Parts: sequence; structure tokens; C-alpha cells
Amino acid sequence: MPEPETTPTDWSAAAAALRPDPRPWIGGRRVEVDTGRGFRSENPATGATVAELPCCGAADIEAAVRSARTAFESGAWSQLSPRERGRKVRAFAEQVRAHAQELALLDTLEMGMPIANALGDMQEAGGHVEAIAEMADKLLDEVIPNDPSAWVLNIREPHGVVGAITPWNFPAYIGISKVLPALAVGNSVVLKPSEIASLSCLKLGELAAAAGIPDGVFNIVPGLGGEAGAALALHKDVDVLTFTGSTATGRRLLEFSGQSNMKRLILECGGKSPQIVFPDVADLDRIAEAIVGGITFNTGQVCVAGSRLLVHRSIADALVARVVERARAVEPGDPLQESTGFGPLASRGQLERVRSHVAAATEQGAAMLLDGTPASAGGACFWSPTVFADVTPGMRVAQEEIFGPVLSVMTFDSEDEAVSIANGTIYGLTATVWTADLGRALRLARRISAGAVTIGADPTGGRVDATTGAFEPHRQSGLGVEGGLGGLRSFTRLKSVTFKP
Ligand code: ADP
Repeated sequence: MPEPETTPTDWSAAAAALRPDPRPWIGGRRVEVDTGRGFRSENPATGATVAELPCCGAADIEAAVRSARTAFESGAWSQLSPRERGRKVRAFAEQVRAHAQELALLDTLEMGMPIANALGDMQEAGGHVEAIAEMADKLLDEVIPNDPSAWVLNIREPHGVVGAITPWNFPAYIGISKVLPALAVGNSVVLKPSEIASLSCLKLGELAAAAGIPDGVFNIVPGLGGEAGAALALHKDVDVLTFTGSTATGRRLLEFSGQSNMKRLILECGGKSPQIVFPDVADLDRIAEAIVGGITFNTGQVCVAGSRLLVHRSIADALVARVVERARAVEPGDPLQESTGFGPLASRGQLERVRSHVAAATEQGAAMLLDGTPASAGGACFWSPTVFADVTPGMRVAQEEIFGPVLSVMTFDSEDEAVSIANGTIYGLTATVWTADLGRALRLARRISAGAVTIGADPTGGRVDATTGAFEPHRQSGLGVEGGLGGLRSFTRLKSVTFKP
């Protein structure tokens, strides 16, 4: 077992002492690259530079894909027994736990997640990877029994080289949870993290090496989306691309696949998840707390954030008053203080995006019940919880993913109307239904077009451990299965083998 780090008491001092390595990790080591250009990552709580990183491009992606392909063909990983791979994936989980503080601190510095949340994320990531390790040898093949004179088998094999393009909202967590299922079933991986927050993902290569994952199996290349990301998505020797990010980029990736080699895609794109509250519920305080938690967790920068509150007209005033009261009490703080629960938005770009959505909502006639506009901007990206009422389903604030602490309130009179509003966006990621009527809960679980429907809990609240559950986004929220055994299967392909002596 690796030694756990000692707990720093002063995160600012720990941050000042950090010397993060911005170089790509290719072929089992850090490599020097001469890109001639670089990009800065910036602390959104202060505006200070965190690191200068190299703008890797097509040549670096080429080196990483070649390294991944060579490792795959060598069989050093792809031909290991699934149980042996599982052991190394478990060793990786131990590495994540042992380096949780450094990974968490890097995310806090680059995208502003409060340190306590970032540490919690790394604990969860460790558990998630342990679950993946346990599933590594549980993908069973099939024997098809139709012809007694033959054995027809359906076997699963890894695809080969998997590209992963990840976002900035949970940098290390999403990097880990996207890459490890692909590795667990024998693929090699090239990861391109978000340019807003790459440092924690760049660290993962060293953890993989320490866990005994062979050189070249896991490569990490920093760079801009339109350059390094596009080069990976267009590469003809990448078999599968797994992505989490915006729907606009997801669409581009589908085009890139068509333009290159028809690589398989697993896409987890945006969401505009409804929180639907029926008048039979008993405890409006608990529901208000969950709704505010759902829209303020990670400053609303969560793809499954319940950003649309659909409430029955008869209880709307009572519930909305409670929501506004709680949301008003959520104050932004220094993400390096362990007591802080609500940090800044992740970047200046994100601040402008939230600002423009809030302006559009006001222009389109929504009533602002709570204004989160910061008093003074400075170099920081703080934005407080914002609540709009009198929202109609066609408004931008009700249709587009904002990725900020902005809640749109709509009312309904009947179950049919609630379903129609809930399903009335291009997205279908998650939904939450609050009702005491079991029949209604079951009906809505079927009628709502979303990859995950939660009855009576906040999906971002961490009250339910769903790491071993699989889910598949609907409509323009994405493509393909992630999570659980289904998520591991996504990184394999089926082959039919017939023996007829
Ligand atoms: P957001 O708008 O929330 O930043 P993006 O979809 O732009 O989300 O970013 C998610 C990931 O996609 C990042 O790693 C980013 O670098 C990458 N990306 C952005 N544009 C492209 C592109 N044209 N091709 C490939 N990757 C891209």
C-alpha cells in the first residue's frame, strides 16, 4: 500500500509549494515537447496564473496514439487475464487515494471547486475505481445453443486504442471514471483533458505507472480542444472516442468520426434536468434543500444539475419561497478554506456565459426572484445563486444548458403537462420526481425521456451510490452506455466464433 499523504492544515501554503508538471505523459514517462506555443491555466478565485502548459497538437497526438497502439499490440496489457488487470486497477485506486490531496488541490486551483468537495470527489473516485476493479473479470461471454452439432460463441474483446476527451467541471474525477473502464477491459488510452484544468489528469500517468500498468497503455496529452482534441477525434487509428462535454462539441465529434475512420463514440453531453414536484409531497423544506443543493453543488457546473424546477401550481408559492430563502443563504467563499461549500465559476468564459443567459432571461420576461450577479468582478469569477420565476418553456433559460447556479421555475396543472414540459428540450440526461404516489412515480419513470430518473432524492446530493449502475443518455444528451458493467461492455466489441468440427 502506498503511504497516504499527511493532511495539510494550510491549503494556501500547500498550493504555494506545489510544482505541477505540465508536460504530456507518453509511453510511460514525461516527455519534452517543443510546441512553440503555450496556454495558461488560471485560478478563477483570484485570476492568478496556475501554470503554463504546452499547446500540444497533431504530432504529439500521433506520438501518443502510436505508443498506445504499440502497447496494445504487445499484449502486455490487452492479453493479461482480466483478473490480473483487475488487480492493477485496484492498485490504481490505492494510488488515487494516496494522492487524493494533490489531485484535489490541483482541481481547486485550476477550476475553483472548494477543497472539501474536491477531496470528497477523490474519495469517491477511489471507490469507483475499486468497483471497476471488481467488475474486470465479470464480463462473461455467451454460448449460443441453436445447433447441437456446433459451438457458437459470442466473445468480447477490447477495441484497441481509446481516445478520451474530458471537461473541466470534475477534472480528475471524470478523467478517472472515463479512462479506467476502458483500461479494465484491455484497451490502451490517450486522454486529452480540458485546457481549463489539465494538471490533475496529467498526474494520473504517474499513478498508473506506480500501479503497474505497463508503459504506453495510458497516455495523456494537454492542449486546446480545437487542436489536440480535434487531432485525437480525427485520428484514423483511434477505435473509440469517449467524451464528456458540451452538446456542440459532441456534434463536431460525430462529424470527425465520419470524416476519419467511423470510430465508435461514447458521448455524455449536456442536460437541462427537471425537478418535478407534485402537490402530494409532505416535506417542502426537505425538497427545497435538495433543489438548492442540486443547483449550487459545484456552482451549478454539473451536467445532471436540476436546473428546471417544475412545480404544481397549488404549491408553487410555498415551495419557491423556501427555495429562494435557502438559495439566498448560499454565499461564495475561498475554495482553499475547508469550510467553503460554494466556490467561483470555473473560468472567465463561464462567467460570461452565465451573465449572457441571465441577461437573456430578463429580456425574455422571466422574473428574477434572486439576483446572483457579483457586486464587483475583479479577476475572480464568482456568481451567486440566481432564481427566475414566470419562466415559460420556450425561453432560452428553460431550454439551454447554462452550467451555473441558475434555477428556472415553471408551474404545471396536470401530470400530462408536467411530462410535456419535462420532455420539451433537446436533452434527456436525468430527471427527479417528487411525489408520494407510487403509481405516479412509476408512470413518470417510464414517461420521462432521460437516461436516469430519480424518485425523491437529489441526484447530485451524493445520497445514493450509483457507481455500479449503468445509464444511457437520451436524445442530444449523448450516446452509449456509461457506468457499471454496461459501461465496461461499451469498451468491448462482440465477435461471433463458430466451431463446427
Ligand atoms: P465547455 O463548453 O463546457 O468547455 P467543451 O465541449 O468545449 O465544453 O469542452 C469539453 C472538452 O472538449 C475539452 O477537453 C475541450 O478541449 C474539448 N473540445 C472542445 N472543442 C473541441 C473540438 N472541436 N474537437 C475536439 N475536442 C474539443
